[in-house]
Amino acid sequence: MPPVGYCGIDCERCGNYLKGANCLGCRVDQEMISDCETRDCCKQKGVGYCGECGSFPCASMKQFYEEKPQYAYALEYMKEIARIRSQKGKDIP
Ligand code: SF4
Ligand code: SF4
Repeated sequence: MPPVGYCGIDCERCGNYLKGANCLGCRVDQEMISDCETRDCCKQKGVGYCGECGSFPCASMKQFYEEKPQYAYALEYMKEIARIRSQKGKDIP
C-alpha cells in the first residue's frame, strides 16, 4: 500500500514520487524533487491531512481538486476526515 500524501492522494500518483527514484512519500523528512505548498502548509499547521485543517477546503486546495478531477477520490477522503474532525470538535466542551 503506497503512502498517502497530505492532500489525500496516494503518493504513487504524485509527480514528486514518480520523478524521484528514491522518494519514500511526502511524509518522510526528505528533500522533494519539487516543492509542494500543500505539504509545507500541513507541516506548518501540524495537521496530518488537509482535511484536519480548519481552513479546509482553502482556495488553494479547491483549485487543486478542480484542476485534477482524477483526484476526486482524495477530495472525498478529505471531506470525510473534515466531517469526523467537525463531529469531534462538537464534543469538546
Ligand atoms: S501533499 Fe504534495 S507532495 Fe504530498 S502527495 Fe500531495 S501533491 Fe504530492
Ligand atoms: S487545507 Fe489549505 S490551508 Fe489547510 S493545510 Fe491544506 S493547504 Fe494548508
